[in-house]
Amino acid sequence: MKVYGPDFFKDFHCIGSSCLDNCCRMGWDIEIDDDTYSYYSSIGNGICGHISSDGKEHYIMQENGQCPFLNEKGLCSLLLEYGEQHISQICAQHPRFYQWFGSNKEAGTGLCCEESARLWLEHAGKISFCEWETDEEDDDLAFDAQMLEAVRNAREVLFDLVQCDELTLSQKMKALLIFGLNAQDMGAEDEPECYDELAHIFSDIEKVKELVGQLGESTQEEITVACFDVLSCFEELDYMKGVFPGAIGRIKSRLDSITANAGAFDKACPEVSKQLCAVGIYNIFRYFIECASGAQCLPIMVSSILNMWFIRMWDILMWLEDRESFGITAQINAVKEYSKEVEYSDNTSALWECVYTDSRLSADRIAKIAEV
Ligand code: SF4
Repeated sequence: MKVYGPDFFKDFHCIGSSCLDNCCRMGWDIEIDDDTYSYYSSIGNGICGHISSDGKEHYIMQENGQCPFLNEKGLCSLLLEYGEQHISQICAQHPRFYQWFGSNKEAGTGLCCEESARLWLEHAGKISFCEWETDEEDDDLAFDAQMLEAVRNAREVLFDLVQCDELTLSQKMKALLIFGLNAQDMGAEDEPECYDELAHIFSDIEKVKELVGQLGESTQEEITVACFDVLSCFEELDYMKGVFPGAIGRIKSRLDSITANAGAFDKACPEVSKQLCAVGIYNIFRYFIECASGAQCLPIMVSSILNMWFIRMWDILMWLEDRESFGITAQINAVKEYSKEVEYSDNTSALWECVYTDSRLSADRIAKIAEV
């Protein structure tokens, strides 16, 4: 099997007891696979008393908001006692994610984990991907090899675009929007040639600047209204913790100040733009590949833009609130919280689909917020 992922994929290691926001304390349902459940049943030492089972699916029941097997040092007592081969697949793999296409596999680490977020952000501006071989058997699910190749090639072009030093963050976000709109107009989900054509167009940076320029510029008032509308959509998601609704409320209440101070923020914290691009690369790497299986391109491009944009708005807010303490630690925390609360929310995909149905997330609005 050929595996493709970020260069630093193999550098990820859970930091366990040093983790400030342990995934075993997030209140998530933790699924136990059949083999692991059978093993726990066979050793019969009370483990299954903490696992709900309907005969088909098995979940660890959270106790006091955390996994009951987490010990006082923040480590997994099951792993310590029985070894990594006897913890559930999800626990062994988190926050890694995979996708399979025959003899090809894609591998990455999710931003919902602070150590993974640190890796992505530390590589900001120089994220690259590589291929390595494993002895796993090929996946037998059918896929369109021509579409996979076209999407992967177009994705490489988008990686270069998002890390291109000749474009501003605003230009990059607008370029992603134009890419998505063109893919939609061309019916790209059925035609690999469309992705080939888009890859050709978007690999020409002068052409990209020209296309972005055609979108024109908005007034400050139009930008603020568009930001307000998009934030209203974020308010409709289900959140696990109060930190996120609180952040949205604070961004809304200081919207004028945030948009007015965006330029000063960029001057004071020039590294942030590259960090946000790292978030964009992550999103494109993880989700754009779904277009090889027929997914619509536009919602994926919009989600990539909004992920960068929202974290930028939050960054500016944090900087305005306390300039001294804004830095890489605050940024890692913001990226991780965003991923946990938005990327991993049950109704997020419905939010991105609103690009077709809700005027607050129309292409016109997205183009405007990209100007902040
Ligand atoms: S969030 Fe990441 S670093 Fe923290 S305990 Fe989970 S896997 Fe380990």
